[in-house]
Amino acid sequence: MPINCAVGCGNKAVLKRPKTGDPFCKECFFNAFENEIHFTITNNKLFTPGLKVAIGASGGKDSTVLAYVLKTLNERYNYGVELTLLSIDEGITGYRDDSLETVKQNRDDYKMPLKILSYQELYGWTMDKIVEQIGRSNNCTFCGVFRRQALERGAKLLGVDCIATGHNADDIAETVLMNILRGDTARLRRCTNVRTGGGQNSIPRIKPLKYAYEKEIVMYAHYKKLVYFSTECVFAPNAYRGHARELLKDMEKVDPEAILNIIHSGEQMRFNDFVKQPTRGKCDRCGFLSSQQPCKACTLLEGLNRGLPKLGIGKKSKGDRMIASQDKQLALREKSNLVKNDF
Ligand code: SF4
Repeated sequence: MPINCAVGCGNKAVLKRPKTGDPFCKECFFNAFENEIHFTITNNKLFTPGLKVAIGASGGKDSTVLAYVLKTLNERYNYGVELTLLSIDEGITGYRDDSLETVKQNRDDYKMPLKILSYQELYGWTMDKIVEQIGRSNNCTFCGVFRRQALERGAKLLGVDCIATGHNADDIAETVLMNILRGDTARLRRCTNVRTGGGQNSIPRIKPLKYAYEKEIVMYAHYKKLVYFSTECVFAPNAYRGHARELLKDMEKVDPEAILNIIHSGEQMRFNDFVKQPTRGKCDRCGFLSSQQPCKACTLLEGLNRGLPKLGIGKKSKGDRMIASQDKQLALREKSNLVKNDF
């Protein structure tokens, strides 16, 4: 027997909302989904009129839905923000080249300008070449560090005020779990923030989909017939996040609210002052945001260029120390040359 939409609009329900389990018709689901994102935006004062916003666009479901919903809400509620798509081409054959075609489709469909920046032009390396050098175990470290900085560089080039990313509720809950399991209290402290960065050396990042469930994003994209790219990266091992994801999916089956509850717990955790927060500054080499000298991107790049790609891997890595010691030796050699030349 057909079930009525839980909102009371009189329409027949066509779907069960993953977040609540309630039966919804399509229109009421669209409204509920969009209103929750609008609430996240207004409640956290993410936008002010005239703000220039770059949407980190990968062509995947999250950034495609983000671009579509931000455009819709911007028109509906007159936020007065200027939206641009910003994509990073990591140089992954069979993955990013195809997904960028989807981003170009998004650009045409949503009538938004698009800027694409590649690792090749920024660092002189593609992920294909990096994987040839380092194999398949630490590739995501390089990719994540370079992408973070590449987005920052792209945003600076575009002159935008903030970067909106497609992180959804599942991503954030997974990150909370991972940080708990790793005992990484510094990251745990900030991973639930809807706005991060900002200040002198970095462009703020915002997560308007912070409370949107992955299943609802897929459902929204499906019923709205949005074009997105769903193939997984050919280099995607990321086993640790995979375990957190599996755990979360299992808990979601038992209680869908578990996702929101984990985020809520992360938000409410209190940390004593002994939890050391990294001091953010500017990298002496590239001038971009860093909590260490040189920044992680410069360290990794130097390792690649010196033919020692594993040098920048790991915590306060042996690589950092080796590079520092090589720098020291170079400086000493230069100094002794200078001394010799002085005579
Ligand atoms: Fe980069 Fe790893 Fe993501 Fe692939 S899975 S895009 S290599 S971070």
